[in-house]
Amino acid sequence: MEEQSCNMNTGYLESSAYKKAGRHVRPEGTVLNIGGIKIGGRGFVIMAGPCAVENEKQLLTTAREVQRKGANILRGGAFKPRSSPYSFQGLEEEGLKLLQKAKLEFGIPVITEVMDTRQVELVCKYADILQIGSRNMQNFPLLKEAGQCHIPVMLKRGMNATLDELLLASEYILDGGNEEVMLCERGIRSFETSYRNTMDLNAVPMLKRLTHLPVIVDPSHGTGHAWMVPHLAKAAMAVGADGLLIEAHYNPLKALCDGPQSLTLEAFGILMEELKALAKAMGRKLIVPENSLT
Ligand code: PEP
Ligand code: MN
Repeated sequence: MEEQSCNMNTGYLESSAYKKAGRHVRPEGTVLNIGGIKIGGRGFVIMAGPCAVENEKQLLTTAREVQRKGANILRGGAFKPRSSPYSFQGLEEEGLKLLQKAKLEFGIPVITEVMDTRQVELVCKYADILQIGSRNMQNFPLLKEAGQCHIPVMLKRGMNATLDELLLASEYILDGGNEEVMLCERGIRSFETSYRNTMDLNAVPMLKRLTHLPVIVDPSHGTGHAWMVPHLAKAAMAVGADGLLIEAHYNPLKALCDGPQSLTLEAFGILMEELKALAKAMGRKLIVPENSLT
């Protein structure tokens, strides 16, 4: 019989069901340290950048501007999980090299997706944080491999995964010996079709109650519409998330992947100003990079 993660009397999930991820393991919460950038605690981290690394100009222009406007970590996919095999699949190692270039030029750590166990070694050479995407949340061999890595992992919730399944998936990484894990709520499939996914912000307080792991929210995939992203980004801070993953592009109309949900650099700047004001009201600390111009 499957082990039960919920209390048989109340039906609620319980922290104690999660041997390593459970809140009881570290009641004060985990704070990850990515080259001096703290994820968890009172801080609020901003990971931003294009959905996919497309070319040098696109990545460097976008990276420079998101960092100037206050992003702490640069995102960008070099291996892209696309619904169609005919869509842009990512630049692979060339994309990783461009991320490294941006990292060296702007002094900003990078997060990038790994889709397959065979890519782990290569991606680990370039990434500061490994992203395991929604479609791979229950790729158990990949989770086990990530458990052997010595760099932090951001595990995104499967688009049709329960929080129990997400937490159990995180246990695979933790149990493998990698203690640096954060979770990401990125929207779930629902009957609603007017946005790409339903941003399940309920998940944030529930996860914060059940686990000590930091919880990031991705309002870009959670909505699929750039104009909605700032609304849900502020809501995510209000419900207690530890940070955001945001897609931004210097020219969203020309993006090879996820343009409709990517913020322009201008819109990203406006959102950062709004988040700063909200952080102040909420007693949160928006970490502003030292060399940021804002
Ligand atoms: C992404 O972050 O670009 C991505 C593919 O996200 P998800 O796995 O949540 O769809
Ligand atoms: Mn994307």
